[in-house]
Amino acid sequence: MKKTLLAGVVLTAVCILPAMAQQQPKPADPRLKIYRETPAKINDLIHTKLDVRFDYKKAYMYGKEWVTLKPHFYPTDTLRLDAKGMDIKTIAVVKNGKNTPLKFTYDSLSIAIKLDKVYRNNENYTIYIDYTAKPNELKAKGSAAITDAKGLYFINPEGKEKDKPTQIWTQGETEASSAWFPTIDKPSQKTTEEISITVPAKYVTLSNGRLSAQKANADGTRTDTWKQELPHSPYLFMMAVGDFKIYKDKWKNKEVNYYLEPKYAPYAKEIFGFTPEAIQFYSTKLGVDYPWVKYSQIVVRDYVSGAMENTSATLHGEYVQSTPRELIDAYYSQGRSTIVHELFHQWFGDYVTAESWSNLTVNESFADFSETMWAEYKYGKDEGGAHIYDDLQNYLSNPDAKTKDLVRFHYKDKEEVFDVVTYQKGGCILYMLRNYLGEDAFYKGLGIYLKTNAFKNGEAHQLRLALEEASGRDLNWFFNQWYFGAGHPVLDISYKWDEATKTQTVYVNQTQDGDPFILPIAVDVYAGGKKERHKVWLRNKADTLTFAVASKPNLVNVDGDKILAAKKTDKKTLEEFAFQYANAPLYRDRLEAIEAAAPAQGDKNAQKIILAALKDKYYGLRIEAIQAVNMTNDEVRNAAQPVLQSIARSDENTLARAAAISVLGKLKASGQLNLFKEALKNQSYAVQGAALNAIGQIDPAEALKLAKGFEADNKGALTQALIGIYSTSGSDAEWPFVYGKYSELGPQAQFNALQKFADLVGRVQKPEYAQQGINEIKELGVRFKQYVGDYVKGMLNSIKTKREALKDDASAKVADDAIKAIDAK
Ligand SMILES: [Zn+2]
Repeated sequence: MKKTLLAGVVLTAVCILPAMAQQQPKPADPRLKIYRETPAKINDLIHTKLDVRFDYKKAYMYGKEWVTLKPHFYPTDTLRLDAKGMDIKTIAVVKNGKNTPLKFTYDSLSIAIKLDKVYRNNENYTIYIDYTAKPNELKAKGSAAITDAKGLYFINPEGKEKDKPTQIWTQGETEASSAWFPTIDKPSQKTTEEISITVPAKYVTLSNGRLSAQKANADGTRTDTWKQELPHSPYLFMMAVGDFKIYKDKWKNKEVNYYLEPKYAPYAKEIFGFTPEAIQFYSTKLGVDYPWVKYSQIVVRDYVSGAMENTSATLHGEYVQSTPRELIDAYYSQGRSTIVHELFHQWFGDYVTAESWSNLTVNESFADFSETMWAEYKYGKDEGGAHIYDDLQNYLSNPDAKTKDLVRFHYKDKEEVFDVVTYQKGGCILYMLRNYLGEDAFYKGLGIYLKTNAFKNGEAHQLRLALEEASGRDLNWFFNQWYFGAGHPVLDISYKWDEATKTQTVYVNQTQDGDPFILPIAVDVYAGGKKERHKVWLRNKADTLTFAVASKPNLVNVDGDKILAAKKTDKKTLEEFAFQYANAPLYRDRLEAIEAAAPAQGDKNAQKIILAALKDKYYGLRIEAIQAVNMTNDEVRNAAQPVLQSIARSDENTLARAAAISVLGKLKASGQLNLFKEALKNQSYAVQGAALNAIGQIDPAEALKLAKGFEADNKGALTQALIGIYSTSGSDAEWPFVYGKYSELGPQAQFNALQKFADLVGRVQKPEYAQQGINEIKELGVRFKQYVGDYVKGMLNSIKTKREALKDDASAKVADDAIKAIDAK
């Protein structure tokens, strides 16, 4: 699974909000004392056969289930099935085609069934269940254990919402499949599956495995039967129903299909077209061919997370649906990395599944790491380096994360294991491990892990054993430190050259609390026009490394492969960083130099770095340099301006162009107006948005006039620019457009545009408009109170003051009520 929404909001909030008071240490939650063991297996699922139909009006699903099981080891005459908030009509054992009713008790969470006899583990038995799933009434059942996870979602079921299609889809992870069929809802169970779905004939269905039959019924419905003939875990069951257009692609002789709303169907190939190439890439790397009968991807409305890797049928949220113009600015953005993330789960997650949520790392750390694998392969080493570095920053910027073990035997709620430790830090750990073992041994080990545990479960120990088998090296120390421990090294690196003895000394101190980390790394010594590599092991809180070198080195590059999941302070001179920028090959090498140079642009070496980086071969670093360039320094500006103009006009990357235009716009030089107007003709929304903002800096009235021309077709950065310009210079005439667009934005984008939007809310004449805006802002504050509540209240307060000044007491009161509503949440 990939979660996107909230994490982004949190990050921005942390960056933008004024420093919040340090949180008081809270007493430890008693739930953290519970050891989260892998649940005992009493019965094993073998086969799950379902027959389902829907009541769209009531949002009910009528289900019949035939579930085949056997005792795992010990004989038993009882069976417990998870079943959340259902009406259970009949439970029977099926023998020779005859149903014999069984006694059971049901508490709205699980069914305890008394079997007709004691079964041994060589005896299969089949239970028949007639039931109704009522996902929208789950909460009404009033059990603390039932959360928002409905499992089965009816979207616009009666077609009452305009411009929204009618859809049904499911979301199983973590344990929500048991809200739509009774099962043993644990990842350690595996079962084959057969599902017959009866739907209005106009709709398309998708489920796991192959479509084995379609039958038209006399009542205008159709029954589709899907068969998943290889076992998988209950949380990976899925179905989706709705009006989708299917684009058929293929990998080898397997179908690779893309299900999209008809409106986006023409762009299926642009959005998903690289999927077969990615399937081939991962199959080759892992030495295990894509294991399932087909691979489909579907995009649905109102999805509750980012995307979900249901076996052979990945489900994506709407974010992935883009027009070709939006895709111009996409590069290796969120949407594309999510496509490969979910695909990689088909091996790590679906083929071999985490044994319990405590062991989620063997699913999610791999899916995270696969994003970097694809970035390296498809876009080059720099893109991969940038992707994994972003992961590291994401982890490091989250202060709580350093206290959490990767393999998490203690948690309050299983949902919290889906965090930056399991995903981003776990990805960084695999990046280190690949470097330590070498590509070939690492991927051979992954292949062994997959083949040994195919259609079964894995935990970190199985992974270790497989990697040890492949490489011949003991890895206990690595796993104890990174998988069964928490935190990261905090390194302080300093240098001393002794001319008399021709000795270079490097001091590496580990300043984190607790034990030192064992870190095998490369140290590259650049001297006399050559680079010499030394492999060293850091093992102590204070390590001293010495190297005999013929002449004073130009650079000593500690962690030459830039793989460490560490925080570091590296005391190099700017001259050394300039040498590093020009000579060390990696993304992180060059980024470190840019970051060191950014605050010191009075220095010649810093200038050299920034000016060179404006022409870096990797667009991500060009953008870093563009954003770092200090235009208030005359020397820097004189040298940078022509380069920025050339980037703004013709860089091959639209995001770099947009960044350059933004920097030039801030100079407010009317001489550049033509450049910006020319940029408005570009097809990229990012370039257009930056250009419109730049024009707004020089001539707000002109920008307001030009903005009108983009009302019909705008997305992303251009929409944000329109909201910004109308909010700054517009009036009541622009309100309906601004309000309409703002309310369509996602939470992160709303948060980014909030200040400008709030300006206009404070200024519009009509109280009705002001109140619309206040209520929109209130919703954001209530929903994300935990992260942005205080900030939003500040905005509402300033709106209140402005409305009072306009003698609009009614709106001032609405603002006041909004603040109270956030407080009360
Ligand atoms: Zn995932």
